[in-house]
Amino acid sequence: MQLLDGKLLSDEILSELKTEVDNIRQKNGKIPHLAAVLVGEDGASITYVNSKVKNCEKVGFKSSLIKKDATITEEELLEIIQKLNQDTDIDGFIVQLPLPKHISEKVITDAISPDKDVDGFHPFNVGKLALGLDTYVSATPNGVMEMLKRYKIQTEGKNCVVLGRSNIVGSPMSMLMSKSSRSEVISKNGYSADATVTVCHSKTKNLQEITSKADILIVAIGQQEFVTADMVKEGAIVVDVGLHRLIDETKKSGYRLVGDVKFDEVAPKTSYITPVPGGVGLMTICSLLMNTLKASKNK
Ligand code: NAP
Repeated sequence: MQLLDGKLLSDEILSELKTEVDNIRQKNGKIPHLAAVLVGEDGASITYVNSKVKNCEKVGFKSSLIKKDATITEEELLEIIQKLNQDTDIDGFIVQLPLPKHISEKVITDAISPDKDVDGFHPFNVGKLALGLDTYVSATPNGVMEMLKRYKIQTEGKNCVVLGRSNIVGSPMSMLMSKSSRSEVISKNGYSADATVTVCHSKTKNLQEITSKADILIVAIGQQEFVTADMVKEGAIVVDVGLHRLIDETKKSGYRLVGDVKFDEVAPKTSYITPVPGGVGLMTICSLLMNTLKASKNK
């Protein structure tokens, strides 16, 4: 078993991005600028946004954090988005999800200009991905593709099972893995795809029978330690997107993180597996920064 080490890769990618930003600065070019909008006081969202901002600083990007109370109205949030759409210094921005119940995530996502949508959630960018065109791909699935690329994992003709079909992870993940290597989004980014993909969800029957045939199993179902050893084929590659905070008084932070996969019992059966933490999460942030650099260059 070998770990797919998100920390190692993210250090490598952040260092590459920093070198690129240093070159831009030397040529007096435009420094990429990412803005993040955070609504409310959700602990996990605060951690994610802070980490995004911190990593922007690490690579020399400009970053802006806009914090708003959970009582903000949809109209007020839309006004902020319009300002960010029009701000010529900002290359890309994200609105951290989830949003309070009185605000429609769809309305907000749709209001972000597609050329600043570095999270890749806008229907225009999702549509481009569906057509195999290069675009801002949703950060988490893009991070997984980048991880498989950097570990030189061949996916062509492999049975890939994606557990979960959400708009931000499962669906774009299955689209990417099933694309032809000739498609723009795969060839331009040097990814390996061409897998035979099965998508599973909450209505899937005989889940264990399907997952245990997977050469590559990508899990994004939001169910803590759901995937057990009997669901995994010997020698499979397992990518765990799940992220759950469990209260743990023995930790300084007061919690520990686990994924959607029962790591201890699954890992020995695999050829490669992502740890949690230290796996996909770090790749997600890198992917967001890579999208921001792309947005800045596209200008
Ligand atoms: P989501 O929107 O809740 O979607 C979960 C998907 O899993 C749905 O398609 C659902 O099916 C399916 N599902 C749920 N329970 C299932 C079951 N028992 N059997 C089979 N399928 C089941 O979640 P998400 O946003 O995709 O996130 C998934 C996980 O990844 C979460 O733990 C989240 O915290 C984590 N995440 C991590 C990162 C990162 O950077 N590491 C980024 C994003 C998300 P239906 O469609 O039928 O409801």
